[in-house]
Amino acid sequence: MRIEADFECGNAIVEKMTEVEADLSIRPDSNAKYFEWFYFRVTGETGILRTFNLTNAHAASYPQAWNGYRALASYNGIDWFRVQTQYVDGVLSIKHRAEQTSTEYAFFVPYFEAQREKLLDDCAKVGERRTLLTTTGGRPVDMIVFGDPAAAKKVWVFSRHHAGEPMAEYCIEGIMRRLADAQDPTVQRLFEAGIAFYCVPNINPDGTALGNLRANAAGIDMNRDWKQNVEPKSVEVAGLLKAMEAEGVDFFLDLHGDEEHQYVWLVQPQPELVAPEVAPTQQYLETYVRDHYAEYGPDPKGDSLSPVDSGMAVDFVAWKFKCPSLIVELPFKDTIAANGAFESLQVAGCVAFGRDCVDMIAEAMMSQKN
Ligand SMILES: [Zn+2]
Repeated sequence: MRIEADFECGNAIVEKMTEVEADLSIRPDSNAKYFEWFYFRVTGETGILRTFNLTNAHAASYPQAWNGYRALASYNGIDWFRVQTQYVDGVLSIKHRAEQTSTEYAFFVPYFEAQREKLLDDCAKVGERRTLLTTTGGRPVDMIVFGDPAAAKKVWVFSRHHAGEPMAEYCIEGIMRRLADAQDPTVQRLFEAGIAFYCVPNINPDGTALGNLRANAAGIDMNRDWKQNVEPKSVEVAGLLKAMEAEGVDFFLDLHGDEEHQYVWLVQPQPELVAPEVAPTQQYLETYVRDHYAEYGPDPKGDSLSPVDSGMAVDFVAWKFKCPSLIVELPFKDTIAANGAFESLQVAGCVAFGRDCVDMIAEAMMSQKN
């Protein structure tokens, strides 16, 4: 067999292999220590039961996440399915008898530049496409403005602060494709109410292409770097903040993937950073998610960061722009017995969830008193 990972979003290093078994390690993010994202292609004879051992799984950023996790595989890069996966003695072992000569294995379904370009291109037919910045890797960070840029209220949506969280990009694709549908009554109502959307489908395209888990090309976890004086290595955060300051922000949604939990959940800003007039909307969002997604649970580990200088966009934007602000986390694992539409979040589920986020934002914005 042959194993490759030297392509867009690829991440795996072959240590040793036979025809039926390979030891692999996951490469740390460029200039950083984070790792967990993997994505590689195996070619060889069909019908052979093969084992792929990720030998450094125990040292990954979220080793607990491997418990109950099953890897994804695909023969054509379009249809993905879960395969037998075990986490024993610190090694994640994927076992699979391939029915075709080429099989890809990944932590989650990857999202490629070509998909992003198609999304931006499609949406630019109804919205306005803008390039916010160019990364150190020479990649543009592009945005689509939906609705009137002179609108009174502006909703900003980001995805992929963290490079290896493609479910967030499938989710924003759902949001953007719905906003691009001029016939959608909720979208019409939003635009008529003077609400515009600023959607940035990938704010970390270098890290994504490099196969990183969290960092940008310079090794920075950008969602720990939101502050008044942004690190020079965070060109992405600096560029985004500049654009937000120029345009104004009235609602902020930051989309992420969660390695450990098997449900959708929210991260709210630290309470002391929430402007009093915004607190009812924050509460409303929490209630909305709890009512709509039965498996929603509070973050069991979210309170350890010191409130004011967490460096998380959700906190900084809430404080700086005095607006509702939240993170939505979508799981890497399939959800457990959630309500109908979300039993398997994979690609279709993430897109559908994104479409539903438009309803959530509409209801939260329309019910604002100010
Ligand atoms: Zn994240």
